Amino acid sequence: MRFRFGFGRRLIVLIPALAAGAVLVAAWPAFAADDAAPAKIAVLIVDGQNNHKWQETTPAIKEMLEKTGRFTVDVATTPPKKAAKEAWDKFRPDFAKYGVVLMNYNGDNWPEEVRKSFEKYMADGGGLVFYHAGVFAFPDWKEFNDMMGMGWRKPNQGMRLTIDADGKEVRTPSGGGPGSGHGPAHPFAIDVRDPKHPVMEGLPAKFMHVKDELYHGMRGPLTGMHILATALSDKTTGGTGTNEPMVWTVPFGKGRVFVSLLGHDVAATTAPSSAVLLSRGLEWAATGKVTPSVPKELAGETK
Ligand code: ZN
Repeated sequence: MRFRFGFGRRLIVLIPALAAGAVLVAAWPAFAADDAAPAKIAVLIVDGQNNHKWQETTPAIKEMLEKTGRFTVDVATTPPKKAAKEAWDKFRPDFAKYGVVLMNYNGDNWPEEVRKSFEKYMADGGGLVFYHAGVFAFPDWKEFNDMMGMGWRKPNQGMRLTIDADGKEVRTPSGGGPGSGHGPAHPFAIDVRDPKHPVMEGLPAKFMHVKDELYHGMRGPLTGMHILATALSDKTTGGTGTNEPMVWTVPFGKGRVFVSLLGHDVAATTAPSSAVLLSRGLEWAATGKVTPSVPKELAGETK
């Protein structure tokens, strides 16, 4: 039987709890879980260095997520490029406090202690979401590449994965074919490849994205990669002529990783096509589930 605990009931619980401080800590979340509204997902955005305007996109993403009512958002900002060790000594995010970490960072290596704590967080069941240039980060960190599946890399920095015209996965060995790149930004269509995955469920089979960079030639270990959506990288727009993965998932230990390559700037990040993937991806990475809702702007697209 479920109870909603009113103020009076909380007081009754509170008095004995105060007598034994530890009980309060142990008991309170249990009562909160019985309340009607589901607990919000705690998101940590990591930024501070990026070859993109993280100072603009972080606040836009924070506002976008908070508006949904499903997330609380904290930001961990690293020191700037080439900062002294003393500055980095103050960068010690408590990853375990969060349901999911959103990478809006590519830049100097994190201190070893932070890298180890992040690996442990993920192995123990953490959530991680990459978007756009987050996949540039840390080419020399093996475990990080394993979390990403593939990212912005040179041709010899891992395998390439694309989908041919018949819908079959094509693996190109390291060193063969193009490295990562993109043609001029333009609007392009997103093709859903796994409509049953919680992140894609209910979305149109094909929907338009706004003007954005269409990344191609991503590279990596590809371990456990599961493609959710692709985009045709047309040669007429500086592309490769094949279907490039845009959205995928990767398992890491007990953790879940979600990647969306959309979002060069604020407009491309907060557009309904990108926003729905980002918020669903964050929910899924944190909990394995997704609140089903389709933005009205996408509802009319081709089924
Ligand atoms: Zn970009």
